Amino acid sequence: MLGKLTRWLRILGFNTIWAGELRKSSSEDVDNKILIMALKDDLVLITRDRDLAKKAKKYGVPVILIKDGDLVSRIKAVLSEVGIDIEKIDRMDQVRCPACNGMLVKADKRDIYDKIPPKSREIYDEFWMCENCGKIYWKGSHWRNIEKFIKLLKSCK
Ligand SMILES: [Zn+2]
Repeated sequence: MLGKLTRWLRILGFNTIWAGELRKSSSEDVDNKILIMALKDDLVLITRDRDLAKKAKKYGVPVILIKDGDLVSRIKAVLSEVGIDIEKIDRMDQVRCPACNGMLVKADKRDIYDKIPPKSREIYDEFWMCENCGKIYWKGSHWRNIEKFIKLLKSCK
């Protein structure tokens, strides 16, 4: 349910595990798995599921219950709950891989040359690679959309 929010929290640098991804890889009920993981790794549970939120509270897992609303209001709700200032989020080296939650590290263009689409090779010199899944990132049009969105987040305080 919160896949979009997950990707954005990763872009904003949060260590974010999405239960939807866990569910895909497991047929059993993952609620308990989620709570154990949260307790073990000091994670905050973000959910729309009231029952799960109740259960989490019972076990001492911090919870943010997400209400209906657009993406911007959801992200802002999370940021304010965890006490993070949006103004401080603007660096690429804080970004996590939206696809898998891995850390992005600066990559040498020569080392990853074959993995870069030819067009982007010509235009860009700075690249980042996900430590976990190996996906390559650069500040192309997609990054400009991200910056625009962060600006929007900052503007509607
Ligand atoms: Zn990745």
